[in-house]
Amino acid sequence: MPGPSELDEAEQPPAAPERPSVRLRPALETLPAYVPGASGASPGVFKLSSNETPFPPLPAVLSAISDAAEDVNRYPLMYADRVVAEIARHHGQDPERVVVGNGSVAVAELLLRAMCEPGDEVVYAWRSFEAYPIIVQVAGGTSVQVPNTPDGRHDLDAMAAAITDRTRVVIVCTPNNPTGAAVTHAELVAFLEKVPTDVMVLLDEAYAHFVRSADAIDSFSLLSEHKNLVIMRTFAKAYGLAGLRVGYAVARRRLARTLRTASTPFGVNAIAQAAAVAALGQERAVRERVDEIVAERERVVAALRRQGWDIGDPQGNFFWLPLGDASGSFAADALEAGVTVRPFAGDGVRISIGESEANDIVLTLTQRWASISGTDAGSTQRVGGSLQV
Ligand SMILES: *Cc1c(COP(=O)(O)O)cnc(C)c1O
Repeated sequence: MPGPSELDEAEQPPAAPERPSVRLRPALETLPAYVPGASGASPGVFKLSSNETPFPPLPAVLSAISDAAEDVNRYPLMYADRVVAEIARHHGQDPERVVVGNGSVAVAELLLRAMCEPGDEVVYAWRSFEAYPIIVQVAGGTSVQVPNTPDGRHDLDAMAAAITDRTRVVIVCTPNNPTGAAVTHAELVAFLEKVPTDVMVLLDEAYAHFVRSADAIDSFSLLSEHKNLVIMRTFAKAYGLAGLRVGYAVARRRLARTLRTASTPFGVNAIAQAAAVAALGQERAVRERVDEIVAERERVVAALRRQGWDIGDPQGNFFWLPLGDASGSFAADALEAGVTVRPFAGDGVRISIGESEANDIVLTLTQRWASISGTDAGSTQRVGGSLQV
């Protein structure tokens, strides 16, 4: 048995020489954090912070999900061939052009990894979707952020001018998350004419179903002429499958084939595949729900304008209040009133269109905020408690 002094020694071993530890790529040490919308778990609080649909899954989708659950001891189709076939049929495209993934963010990341050598540039508008800076950096690329116009629209001329010899991809997000503005078809065509043919234009149309503006983009009509165009869509918003993670890109065949080969094997799970196929079979019910959300959006937008807010022309299932430094305190007020919204510190607040009751709570709140500052509601500044997110 060791004596007491030996034990003491054993508890304090001499400092081991420094041994090398595993090393991450330097690019991963400075990743921006993705701040998700607040969780709506609290009972009685409406969740308007993540642009989800307020509707529960359609009955046909639910039953496809429970049928698929019985077979989860089996691997799914490796490249989600049935989903691919249904997406292709839905858009009148060749299945060879379709790539699916675990949410459209995963598809975008796959694309960027395929396109970017270290230091290659990816141009996109800012403020825009918060996933972009993260996936660009993980792919080894360099973000080039082009400020939106003061009314939250993409500055497509400035984006085209930001393209250099190092630019591999330009991301166009329309309607733009979080500002809500949509690019028009004519604007997109003019932009595509300016972008060199060896620079990919990744068109993120996550909210395409909700667009009702004149001259809405018809992206699929542009694919054959613009071989550098990649269209990206998701099942997370209009189809109401945010929790199951399915998204897709439609691109030229050679690119789509390579992306599929480079994708994570079995990247879309069996339940998600079944649900996506079922959702595509419910196009009419999906459209009806989308129409309901759009009608609510129009009701809310009209009311906001009457209250004096300058909110542009939101075309997604959400809208943006440019509250600047007051964004955090607005979000705190909203939570107290029973809704979670998504503040972007120092910039603005994104609010999803949800149940009418939830939208009414928002309108009561915006009325109160508008009356604090008279008609100049869009530039309201207010001090008070702020919500840490
Ligand atoms: C919500 C959203 C998506 C959807 O991403 P998923 O990974 O498919 O859930 C994509 N792009 C934008 C701009 C979004 O707002």
